[in-house]
Order: sequence, then C-alpha cells, then structure tokens
Amino acid sequence: WTQTTTPTFNRDNALKMNDIARTVFAPIYPVIARNAVAVTGVDRGVCLELGSGPAMLSIAMARQAPQMKVIAFDFSVDAGQIAMDNIREAQLSDRIRTAAGDVHAMPFEDGYVDLIVSRGSMFFWDDLKSAFREIYRVLAPGGCTYIGGGFGSLELREKVVAEMLKRNPAWDCYAKKKTDGDGAGRFGKMFRKLGCDDSYRIIDDETGFWVVLSKSA
Ligand code: SAM
Repeated sequence: WTQTTTPTFNRDNALKMNDIARTVFAPIYPVIARNAVAVTGVDRGVCLELGSGPAMLSIAMARQAPQMKVIAFDFSVDAGQIAMDNIREAQLSDRIRTAAGDVHAMPFEDGYVDLIVSRGSMFFWDDLKSAFREIYRVLAPGGCTYIGGGFGSLELREKVVAEMLKRNPAWDCYAKKKTDGDGAGRFGKMFRKLGCDDSYRIIDDETGFWVVLSKSA
C-alpha cells in the first residue's frame, strides 16, 4: 500500500486527530464500543474498524468484546503508525492489528468480518455506494455494521462540543453538518440499488448517526 496523502489526511492532521482522540474525545470511544455491541449483538469473531485513525475505537472494541480480534484499517500510513503506538501502549498488540487500504477496495476476503465499526470517517468517503458494496462483501453471514459518527451520548456530545469550541471557536462539528437532513432516505435508495435494503436501519439520535446493516446468516 502506498501512502495516500490528501490535504485533509496528511501526517500533521493524523497527529492532531491523535491528540484530540487521546484527550477531549477519549471518553466517547468506550461508550460507542458498548453501543456498537448492544445494537448489533455481535461480540465475537473479527471486528474491523474503518478509517480508524489513532485506533481508539479499535482499542475500546477489544476491551468491550474480549473474544474479538480487531483490525484497525485506514488509508493513511501515518495514522497506521500512530495507531500501532497506541495499540502497543494499551498492551493489545496480540488482539489488534493495523491494515492499510481504502474502504472502496478492501484487502479482505468475502465474508471475512463479523462486525464493522467506524466513527467520523464515512463523511469523507468519495463514493458511499461503492464503499457499502465493499462493506457488504466483506461482511460474514450473520455479521453487522455500526458505521457513522457521533459522541455516544447527549451528555458526552455536549461536553466534547463545548471543549472543542473552547479550544477553537471555528471548530466545525462535521458529524452534525454532514448528516443533517439526508439520513434514512439517501441510504434507503442506495441499499435498494445494492440489493440489501431489507436488512438495514438508521439510528439518528443522541448516540449519533449510525448505519446498521446486517447480512442474513
Ligand atoms: N475514526 C477515528 C476516530 O474517530 O478517532 C478517526 C476519525 S478521522 C476524522 C477520519 C479517518 O478516516 C482518517 O484517519 C482518515 O485517514 C480515514 N479515511 C478517510 N477516508 C478513508 C478511506 N477512503 N479509506 C480508509 N480510510 C479513510
């Protein structure tokens, strides 16, 4: 895999994301991991985190679901290196591995993954339809996704937004902006085209905006 450097996802921004993820955002990952397992009911097998950045959600997933092996997947090699440091520091190198690549063409076999989680990455993907075609392909029968964005709870959201605005008054809560007004309808149309519209639901509440797509066993 050759490093993909976009103006948005350069090394500098990967380091900034790591700083935020380890401080202001730190409390949200365990809550999102708990929500992901509660909503999907999947807590064993292989968990894949898409657009994992510093891999804080992967770490939280490994702790939440001790029977799962986790893959932290991101197209940025810089993010992958930062993720590896965090995984080592969390002493979870035996259960979490990093992998580099693009969500639109993933290096995994059909049906390889039981649970796919992702936060704050989907809003940057170039082509949601081809990304979700890939996601459905790598999902195992009986598998499920928890993909979207948010802060896990209303209380955490308010805390994080207040702290981020204190740090930077121009901070843009992309998770809100990018999902407002286009949720369920847009995904319904897309999943109909992909032929998997009978097995998805959209959560749009205080936990965030999440696409829960399941593949029948
Ligand atoms: N999920 C992490 C978190 O919440 O802490 C990081 C979120 S960061 C805003 C978005 C991440 O998605 C970046 O690390 C970026 O490299 C990754 N990303 C964006 N588009 C991607 C794609 N097409 N394939 C793989 N990773 C992607």
